[in-house]
Amino acid sequence: MTIRPILTEPNKLLRQVSKPVDGVGVEEQTLMNDMLETMYAAPGIGLAAIQIGVPKRIIVMDISADKTKKEPRYFVNPVIKNKNIIKAKYEEGCLSVPNQFAEIERPNSCEVEYLDYDGKKQLLKADGLLATCIQHEMDHLEGILFIDYLSKLKKSMILKKLSKSNSTRIIV
Ligand code: ZN
Repeated sequence: MTIRPILTEPNKLLRQVSKPVDGVGVEEQTLMNDMLETMYAAPGIGLAAIQIGVPKRIIVMDISADKTKKEPRYFVNPVIKNKNIIKAKYEEGCLSVPNQFAEIERPNSCEVEYLDYDGKKQLLKADGLLATCIQHEMDHLEGILFIDYLSKLKKSMILKKLSKSNSTRIIV
């Protein structure tokens, strides 16, 4: 497993729409292993393949609070089947928008159909944090970031902060 660099806004690749994969083979599993290791190292609770520059519809996630008991989840070609009309608000952050957080409102539950790590079709009913996290990650597959839901003013403030932090960051 390899930790890969995570792309951050304003990298244009993050705005690309990811493509479905034909199935789950060794290549996809290797990618998922790398994504999971990258996510744990960041640390984060979810990561889409495009965040490491791979435009495939693949997501990894682990929302377990207990870090000694890992509960990785893998979503390949996920499709949302149902969304609740009732909304929930969470303060969201994103590994591609470092150190920035904002309250975002999304449907509080959803059903998602996908292929798992072994390429088997699954249907998951998600609510709470899991539902929010799935929707956040699925936005990445469409090239959407959580800051896109904010007002123009709020978004431009965040982008300004990001460009500042990038200019002073030293990577050695
Ligand atoms: Zn994100």
